[in-house]
Amino acid sequence: MNMIFLGAPGAGKGTQAEVVCKELNIPAISTGNMLREAVKNSTEAGLKAKSYMDAGELVPDEVVIGILKDRIAQPDAQNGFILDGFPRTVQQAEALESMGVEIDKVIEIDVPDDAIIARMSGRRVCEGCGNSYHIEYKPTKVEGICDACGAKVVQRIDDKPETVLARLKTYHEKTAPLKDYYEKRGKLVTVKGQNEISETSRLTLAAIKGE
Ligand code: ADP
Ligand code: ZN
Repeated sequence: MNMIFLGAPGAGKGTQAEVVCKELNIPAISTGNMLREAVKNSTEAGLKAKSYMDAGELVPDEVVIGILKDRIAQPDAQNGFILDGFPRTVQQAEALESMGVEIDKVIEIDVPDDAIIARMSGRRVCEGCGNSYHIEYKPTKVEGICDACGAKVVQRIDDKPETVLARLKTYHEKTAPLKDYYEKRGKLVTVKGQNEISETSRLTLAAIKGE
């Protein structure tokens, strides 16, 4: 099964993608994580992406589409995958279509902007493996240390309040139109994001199973 997880920054799509990929045993492919990795390693794509990411803007389509295309060609993605954070523009959705990628379901995690703004300051990400945490809703077992790999857990530069507002604006302008795009194709399922992560997971898994 090939799925897309759609939602505003901080709506919890990454967290849910991590849960669902374990449950279904398919990889969660996060373009945000891949881009952060590329920035860390100063690859050509990373160098192009950094200033956009720091400003809360979208990285140009051709950079992201290239990264994504290479990733879904990997052996572990041949039995299905979850795309977390891609597509983010109609042009990216069209690129997926022209690559011949069939999408079975688009799960939208819907969280109102005011709730997002309240949540963002608590978000943390692992420097090592990219796992996401929240100091209140999904704390690490040991403060500041990733449960999965033991590396340091930090706040992202683009989780600062000013940048969060820019990212929300970008989401509404560029990404939200994808709801219509996939609705028209009969693929969109909306899940109301809850404060309790496990409750959102329950609703998400039910939506995937078509309950
Ligand atoms: P969030 O969903 O919390 O905003 P991500 O980790 O998905 O965070 O993305 C972080 C940043 O990476 C985005 O603000 C954007 O600059 C860049 N990015 C990630 N995915 C894409 C994409 N599909 N197209 C363009 N830019 C992207
Ligand atoms: Zn880690």
